[in-house]
Amino acid sequence: MEKIPYKIYLSENELPKYWYNVRADMKEKPAPLLNSQTLEKMGYEDLRPVFCDELIKQELDDDTRYIEIPQEIRDFYKMYRPAPLIRAYCLEKKLNTPAKIYYKFEGNNTSGSHKLNSAIAQAYYAKKQGLVGVTTETGAGQWGTALSMACSYFGLDCKVFMVKVSYEQKPFRREVMRTYGASVTPSPSTTTEVGKKILAEFPRTGGSLGCAISEAIEKAGELEGYRYVLGSVLNQVLLHQSIIGLETKTALDKYGIVPDIIIGCAGGGSNLGGLISPFMGEKLRGEKDYRFIAVEPASCPSLTRGKYAYDFCDTGKVTPLAKMYTLGNGFIPASSHAGGLRYHGMNSVLSELYDKGYMEARSVTQTEVFEAAEYFARCEGILPAPESSHAIRVAIDEAIKCKETGEEKTIVFGLTGTGYFDMVAYGKYNDGLMGDYIPTEEDLQKGFNSLPKVNK
Ligand SMILES: *Cc1c(COP(=O)(O)O)cnc(C)c1O
Repeated sequence: MEKIPYKIYLSENELPKYWYNVRADMKEKPAPLLNSQTLEKMGYEDLRPVFCDELIKQELDDDTRYIEIPQEIRDFYKMYRPAPLIRAYCLEKKLNTPAKIYYKFEGNNTSGSHKLNSAIAQAYYAKKQGLVGVTTETGAGQWGTALSMACSYFGLDCKVFMVKVSYEQKPFRREVMRTYGASVTPSPSTTTEVGKKILAEFPRTGGSLGCAISEAIEKAGELEGYRYVLGSVLNQVLLHQSIIGLETKTALDKYGIVPDIIIGCAGGGSNLGGLISPFMGEKLRGEKDYRFIAVEPASCPSLTRGKYAYDFCDTGKVTPLAKMYTLGNGFIPASSHAGGLRYHGMNSVLSELYDKGYMEARSVTQTEVFEAAEYFARCEGILPAPESSHAIRVAIDEAIKCKETGEEKTIVFGLTGTGYFDMVAYGKYNDGLMGDYIPTEEDLQKGFNSLPKVNK
């Protein structure tokens, strides 16, 4: 058979025209969002004050298998997609493994991550609805950057609340967002009531993602023609990110390659969910079997050590309740260099699939992750984001197992982005100053104590 090319690209007419909604193939659907006061199921009308109309429909749609990608979004995708599926020949050789390793590289755009795939969709629907702009939060900055790019493309205003410590420590990310025309406010700020309240109580706080979410939601509610958008966790984001898995599957099918193991890092679950969706669909329909592995930081282990329960999506407790694997909205993860994975919960589709045994999860420590990141950078030539390197770690571990057993497994993993803005973290690792924090049972209990009492 023809040698598999180093990079498998798709031609323009092979690019997906539909997103795939894995919920349609789930016999047991993910649990619905609940109103935190009444514990009633949230419907379309309940969500309209906060979210864009079309995105709510996607959020609530558990039945439509394929949802057409509007032409305008496909035109934008064409500028930076297809993302290449790369055979890691050099990594395989260096590991001396019989395993075949492929990675889907999503770092080929200015935002440096897969987040642009959903940002452009969300901006499109906001524009189509005739909105003036959107508000959001950003932690490490990848989502804020992606959304700024998407908003500038469609001529929307974009207001980003950036966790204050990141705002101060990552000035370059901030300037990229401003270059794309977004306004960036360090959170907590004095521009919202919730921000003022938090500042009065904790004047020296460096902020948190939970606080920034609360501020962004308040701002969207107060401004005419604005809605709030979110870069992960929600089902609509997973749907948009299915473009990753669909392209991967088309590329593999083209060469008759069948993966045994598919691996992704998991923060809120969007890249992992997007990558595995079409493969998971086959597994759910009983057509094929694959192993799926979610990789999370040992410092924020929502799948491996969390509880499957209803919880708030933010620390300020302004969001609806979602049923998910969670460490509790009050769980404060130790500062970590994989900012994009510091979230207390997990998307509810993935939570349900994990709970039913369709997917595995593993947690890895920070130093193990950076060791894998440097190993990969030195042979494959890409400087990976710390978040993405969680997937690299487990891909390498699985390839080493193959060496021991002599099995020629095919491993596919998602390389979600590049690490150029994370050089302080790489510096710490190079200087031997990086620590590993693993929460104790007691730390976790504090988080679990913040779970709302819901009997569902
Ligand atoms: C945000 C981010 C992640 C984690 O988010 P998910 O929603 O879990 O995919 C992973 N990698 C990179 C590069 C990110 O920016």
